[in-house]
Amino acid sequence: MHTLIWIGVFLATFCIMEFMAWFTHKYIMHGFLWSLHKDHHKKDHDSWFERNDSFFLFYAAISIILFYLWSYKGLWIGLPIGLGIFCYGLAYFLVHDIFIHQRFKIFKKASNRYTKAIRRAHKTHHKHINKEDGECFGMLWVPFKYYKEAK
Ligand SMILES: [Zn+2]
Ligand SMILES: [Zn+2]
Ligand SMILES: [Zn+2]
Repeated sequence: MHTLIWIGVFLATFCIMEFMAWFTHKYIMHGFLWSLHKDHHKKDHDSWFERNDSFFLFYAAISIILFYLWSYKGLWIGLPIGLGIFCYGLAYFLVHDIFIHQRFKIFKKASNRYTKAIRRAHKTHHKHINKEDGECFGMLWVPFKYYKEAK
């Protein structure tokens, strides 16, 4: 398959995943699966893992299925889509779980306009601890107003 199409599919998948993350967060995690997301807003146990981590497993399963279709069924597009989902999940984990929530104590000092804005936007999301009200459901895409305030 032509390299450019391959790269295009990979990048498109990565971008669509930002939309999927936003959609899942707003309508599913703060919807009928709130019971799984709740402990990310208000921790009620001592485990390092959160019930909220199930959402990573869900997307990991989808990318594993795509890798499987690529390697055993010859479906070329399974690889760029599977990798796009995997890389987005990794980026989400690095930014959201490690950088913002410090589940591992690294990247603490990362400080530029983007990291300040992203942290500020997500803190806005966490101001609410209930299912109903909320804002800033996206992750890597940060609304412009958070850049202005981030100076
Ligand atoms: Zn939330
Ligand atoms: Zn969070
Ligand atoms: Zn959240």
